[in-house]
Amino acid sequence: MAKDRQSQGDRQHMTRSHIMTATCSCGGVELKAFGRPIVSAVCYCEDCQKGADQIESLPNAGAVRDPDGGTAYILYRKDRIECSKGAELLRSYKLKETSVTNRVVAACCNSAVFMNFDRGPHWVSAYRARFHGELPPLQLRICTKFKPDGVVLADDVPSYRGYPPGFIVKLLASRVAMLLGRYTGLV
Ligand SMILES: [Zn+2]
Ligand SMILES: [Zn+2]
Repeated sequence: MAKDRQSQGDRQHMTRSHIMTATCSCGGVELKAFGRPIVSAVCYCEDCQKGADQIESLPNAGAVRDPDGGTAYILYRKDRIECSKGAELLRSYKLKETSVTNRVVAACCNSAVFMNFDRGPHWVSAYRARFHGELPPLQLRICTKFKPDGVVLADDVPSYRGYPPGFIVKLLASRVAMLLGRYTGLV
């Protein structure tokens, strides 16, 4: 706990000063993300694969997935990421009309930019490939039971067949921090 307080100054500094930039491939759309991400992960779930298929089939779209079938994301609290340029170019795609999940594409060049939700979750999953500069290290691979047949995953970071508890804890902790931040302005 004491250690927590000691590092609070660092964290605040980090929160205010560290900005990551992401752009679509033509540069028409730009995102800015502030401070530490919640987590940096690759997902192999069926929805991410279908979502990648949907976007990759758009005219001139680039690859959304890595060659091993995984889609790499950097997750940010939704109050820490914003569209700083080209918001009018963003188009949302859903897997089904009733899906709450949106995969958001820059219409200028059909780059997948981020994934968000109509309601519920408090985070935005930005497509890792869109970021520039020194990226936060990849932490884990999730939902690997859906990986394409024959793919052998790299063992650089832990892989999980589903959603591991640590991943869920990170998401929940960030929600608590976000709520606390509303009251204290500290996080
Ligand atoms: Zn573009
Ligand atoms: Zn997924």
